[in-house]
Amino acid sequence: MLKPEHKREVVDWSEDSTKKITIQKLCYVCQAETDITLDEAKYYRWQNIDHVQNVWPNWTGDQREMLISGTHSDCWKYLFPPDLEEDMEERVANIEETLEAHNLRLPEEGV
Ligand SMILES: [Zn+2]
Repeated sequence: MLKPEHKREVVDWSEDSTKKITIQKLCYVCQAETDITLDEAKYYRWQNIDHVQNVWPNWTGDQREMLISGTHSDCWKYLFPPDLEEDMEERVANIEETLEAHNLRLPEEGV
């Protein structure tokens, strides 16, 4: 997997509050910055006393990760690739497909 590249991004995740705050996060994988605009009161509530999932219950995991660590979701996958098990499942599926295409079968269990 190639290292992801991102450009600087500006996002507004504030809701209807009139007092807003913009913070900057740096992704350590691709070195791109993201400017995130948030409701100021919620931001301070998170900073001081509450968990991100309580303050912004509707956010996606990607949004939480961006706020907490500044890391893009694909940069995160680059650091921690999906495990081998998934890879193996895909390979087995490919083998089964190939066998089927040639009218062959894996020996059935218990025969
Ligand atoms: Zn990144």
